[in-house]
Amino acid sequence: MPRAKKKKPAKKKPERSSAVQRIAVRVRARLHGEERGGFVCPFCRTELSWESVKTSEIEVTIYVREKIYYCPSCRAFLGVSSWHTEG
Ligand SMILES: [Zn+2]
Repeated sequence: MPRAKKKKPAKKKPERSSAVQRIAVRVRARLHGEERGGFVCPFCRTELSWESVKTSEIEVTIYVREKIYYCPSCRAFLGVSSWHTEG
């Protein structure tokens, strides 16, 4: 009896705008200490640096916190990082 090989279709992740994706990668790089210097806001083209970019910290649960990065000029969402806190 011949075995029918069935290939499962690869699930595609929902696509985000490439600009946000690009910044998100840089946020990650920054967190790992690989990224230095400034960049340009993909939405309003304001020159930003990690020193000028605005952040907002949110307590998601008692153990999980999220830091949201956003443009100080147009308040566009640039990226987010989350981490666990040990109580
Ligand atoms: Zn902006």
